[in-house]
Amino acid sequence: MIEKRDFYIDGRWVAPAAPRDCAVIDPSTEEACATISLGDRADTDAAVAAAKAAFPGWAATPPAERLAYVEAILAQYEARKEEMAKAISLEMGAPIDMARDSQAPCLPWHLTNFITAFKEMQFIRPLGPHAPNDRIALEPIGVVGLITPWNWPMNQVTLKVIPALLAGCTCVLKPSEESPLSSLLFAEFVHDAGLPPGVFNLVNGDGAGVGSQLSSHPDVEMISFTGSTRAGRAISLAAAETMKRVTLELGGKGANLIFADADEKAVERGAKHCFNNSGQSCNAPTRMLVERSYYDQAVEIAREVAENTKVGSAHEPGGHIGPVVNQRQYDQIQAMIQKGIDEGARLVAGGLGRPDRLNRGFYVRPTVFADVAPGMSIEREEIFGPVLSIIPFDTEEEAVRIANDTIYGLTNYVQSQDGARRNRLARQLRSGMVEMNGKSRGAGAPFGGVKSSGRAREGGHWGLEEFLEVKAISGWDSEADWAAE
Ligand code: NAD
Repeated sequence: MIEKRDFYIDGRWVAPAAPRDCAVIDPSTEEACATISLGDRADTDAAVAAAKAAFPGWAATPPAERLAYVEAILAQYEARKEEMAKAISLEMGAPIDMARDSQAPCLPWHLTNFITAFKEMQFIRPLGPHAPNDRIALEPIGVVGLITPWNWPMNQVTLKVIPALLAGCTCVLKPSEESPLSSLLFAEFVHDAGLPPGVFNLVNGDGAGVGSQLSSHPDVEMISFTGSTRAGRAISLAAAETMKRVTLELGGKGANLIFADADEKAVERGAKHCFNNSGQSCNAPTRMLVERSYYDQAVEIAREVAENTKVGSAHEPGGHIGPVVNQRQYDQIQAMIQKGIDEGARLVAGGLGRPDRLNRGFYVRPTVFADVAPGMSIEREEIFGPVLSIIPFDTEEEAVRIANDTIYGLTNYVQSQDGARRNRLARQLRSGMVEMNGKSRGAGAPFGGVKSSGRAREGGHWGLEEFLEVKAISGWDSEADWAAE
């Protein structure tokens, strides 16, 4: 049993002001695997005060030095990456080989991309030849609160902490109470990388406590949040009083438009992507829209993928999917599967209950519904489990209409050999990202959504800019200007 009650504040591990134990549940076994403490207002205040005190010094630290600290965090990861993979696997149920191959490596991937973006970023630049004494400066926003979920823990922590540090902000991280272990280990990396005290702080807690205290705190200039649309709304309201900048990365209900001329692997690829991470990804292609002439074949391929997708313990390697994170998510997914049945969708694979021989643990059967009609609950709502909905369409216009008829707009997908059609659809789909023919986003591409999927871009230049203020300066003495050109 792991015991990690302390928080990381002002460069030290400190005991909670008023200890409140919280068990971390291993989703593979439903047993408690760790105890943490949930913070209260005194802990939040101490962390914010430390970040506030550290801000002037950190903001004035030469960029090359900030970069060196971030590179030192990368070196810590390289030395301890197996520990990171194990922590993620234990806390949120990603099978250990998936945790090693795709969850934990989000850290070096994003970190490296941010370093590239940082080196290219011009933090002070001329406005233009028409205004020789004007300069535009990009400056750190101040103390930032970072609130993250449990589904891709190091992905989300790195997408927030690293650009905040590079930009010159100081921060307080509140990771999900479901997946605190990877973040506590990350704090050890930061400590051992030698960052000055107060620049990075971590307080564990729940949404109602530390989450909302950070969101309304007068000394926090910005909240960067990833998670549910419900919590995103609550944070925006809490932050309004103090005029904070709020960046939100919320849910999704991605459509995957599969035309009859799609490559032969398109359906298999789409179904596997939907089931990846046990369906717990905001950009999962959960609505598969298939051209009518290819529809029956596509349903059959998706059924086979579901039936061949193995489910098992996160502690065992083997290319399977693990459990979902907790009882609440399990119950919610079961309720959505029941709604799919009740509302008349055709269940072609999976369904209610646990897979055979898995009686304990939050295991969900990979599930495929066909003949899903626009407007059914499973077509509208984010399920966050391995549940695929297949919908037929007759024309390209109809496919676009169905794809866009959602409150979400994170990622959409297109599968077709017709390049002109792909380019047309890429512009017509209302989402922050469109991925086509299995091509994933390149290094440094911005991640984020429109509509209820959020308000922010993470990663690369765009992710760095979220943590910077723009200052317009006139009357600049260009004789003394060494940094501008
Ligand atoms: P959640 O949004 O409640 O939790 C995410 C983070 O926000 C956690 O750190 C939590 O403590 C914090 N939080 C919750 N309420 C808050 C509040 N009022 N103020 C400040 N912080 C708050 O997510 P959940 O309950 O764990 O999952 C519910 C649903 O959210 C899922 O079923 C899924 O649909 C969605 N979700 C989306 C993502 C994503 O990547 N976009 C990630 C996780 C969950």
